[in-house]
Amino acid sequence: PTVYLNGEFLPADKAQVSVYDRGYLLGDGVYEVIPVYAGKAFLLERHLQRLQNSLHGVRIENPHSNEQWTQIIEDLIAKNNNGDQSLYLQVTRGVAPRDHIFPVGVAPSVFLMSNPLLPVAESWKIEGIKAITTADIRWMRCDIKAITLLANSLMKQQAQDAGAQEALLIRDNYLTEGSASNAYAVIDGVIFTAPKDEKVLPGITRDLIIELAAKADMPLHERAVSESALRNADEIWISSSTKEVVPVTLLDGEIVGSGKPGPIWQQMHALFQQYKQEVA
Ligand code: PMP
Repeated sequence: PTVYLNGEFLPADKAQVSVYDRGYLLGDGVYEVIPVYAGKAFLLERHLQRLQNSLHGVRIENPHSNEQWTQIIEDLIAKNNNGDQSLYLQVTRGVAPRDHIFPVGVAPSVFLMSNPLLPVAESWKIEGIKAITTADIRWMRCDIKAITLLANSLMKQQAQDAGAQEALLIRDNYLTEGSASNAYAVIDGVIFTAPKDEKVLPGITRDLIIELAAKADMPLHERAVSESALRNADEIWISSSTKEVVPVTLLDGEIVGSGKPGPIWQQMHALFQQYKQEVA
């Protein structure tokens, strides 16, 4: 595959970064994951706006205008044969002697790569996935899409070790989100998802789900559910750019609702597919 590194397109195995890069030494950077359908970046303006917000949150100056980002992204998609892809984009604070204090006059490092965008497994849509709950051990700026993913990685591995596909995170008795997804509970026909604050990532897919629900008159509240409400929910879902919206049918080994993907999920999944078709 062809990657982009600091102004150049080159083969992945020729791309090299300094061991002094602050991304490598300090996890000092932010990122985006952008799905590409049939050669077209999905909801690109929203991803670029969130990138801007993340950069602002960590006090890195945005190295490119949206026009420049769009050009880089379109070129990278074309150099990777268009089609469906998952683009990974990261900006770190740059290369400098190791020090917690920000370096002065250093240009950020910019890296993009294209990864395969695998279709969501049919079994996930027919049977749903397994999830565990675990304590949300992250910092208090989960709204920033930081590359520093050690806590997320530990929690996702905990799910994997338990034979589950996602960890649902509990902070102060309330569901925040998943280790790599936003999370939803359906209770008596009403969809709940945690509000946008410093405890969750403002998911692009989450925003779309809220808009689709509003358009279809499906009741949805941006309100966090308690752990006990989660355990009694009729349906549980997760969402992300690469997985769209996926039903959870087993939580900590207990059956969720009917044990099958629920009717409200079916409706949202259909709306999501319809939206993708419309914008294609
Ligand atoms: N929350 C977390 C912690 C994530 O890592 C992600 C994305 N992987 C999401 C939510 C979903 O965000 P989006 O819909 O923008 O992919």
